[in-house]
Amino acid sequence: MRTPIIAGNWKMNKNRAETKSFIEQVKDFSVDGVEAVLCVPYTDLAILKDSLPSQIKIGAQNIHWADNGAFTGEISPLMLKELDVQYVIIGHSERREMFGETDETVNKRVHAAYKHGITPIVCVGEKLEEREAGKTKEIVKEQTEKALVGLSSEQVKQLVIAYEPIWAIGTGKSSSAEDANEVISYIRSVVADQYDQQVANEVRIQYGGSVKPENIVSFLAQSDIDGALVGGASLEPNSFMALVKGA
Ligand code: 13P
Repeated sequence: MRTPIIAGNWKMNKNRAETKSFIEQVKDFSVDGVEAVLCVPYTDLAILKDSLPSQIKIGAQNIHWADNGAFTGEISPLMLKELDVQYVIIGHSERREMFGETDETVNKRVHAAYKHGITPIVCVGEKLEEREAGKTKEIVKEQTEKALVGLSSEQVKQLVIAYEPIWAIGTGKSSSAEDANEVISYIRSVVADQYDQQVANEVRIQYGGSVKPENIVSFLAQSDIDGALVGGASLEPNSFMALVKGA
């Protein structure tokens, strides 16, 4: 039985005052039968550590693979651990497209997260032109396989994968729940081929891309969708709480 996981990805939004106000509004919120995570900018992590209620878990949006060293602008897993970070988004399409993230660096970051007991949320997904060319499965297969290289079965069982078709991110144009489920069951079959069916049955796979309180239920009603990675709709406290309740 896979516990659904709803993760908010704030991206590069919210200063300290806005973060404190958000926490104030969700602090008495109860979370039941689902995991709720907020992946916030690095500068907000310490505020979450000090004041986020424990029913909501703390997530980061990236992680470097080294423990420390000459990597200007990067943040190490040890630094994230100190701030009680339990989840980290790795390989978001915005990082792949705008900041040169590759399948190889994604894999290095995934290993670093596990080394320090942080659970990766690995993002995969196709561009619009790739979907139109019928290449969706080919793309997500390659991204998934390469992200998982060298991981043990036990590690993969704990992994979260987020299927985020790039054309659905921030566009208001979500995938249909049925289409998302088809790709997500395919990703599960890729994991089954690389590991085995038992591992594939345990890995949680979220959908992301224009998820809102109004459509979350339709995604979660699908057989293979185990939650959502949510950008815009996670920024407002009532909307975030509605998403978690909807799960
Ligand atoms: P939106 O929910 O704003 O479409 O963003 C999705 C996303 O990129 C989450 O990581």
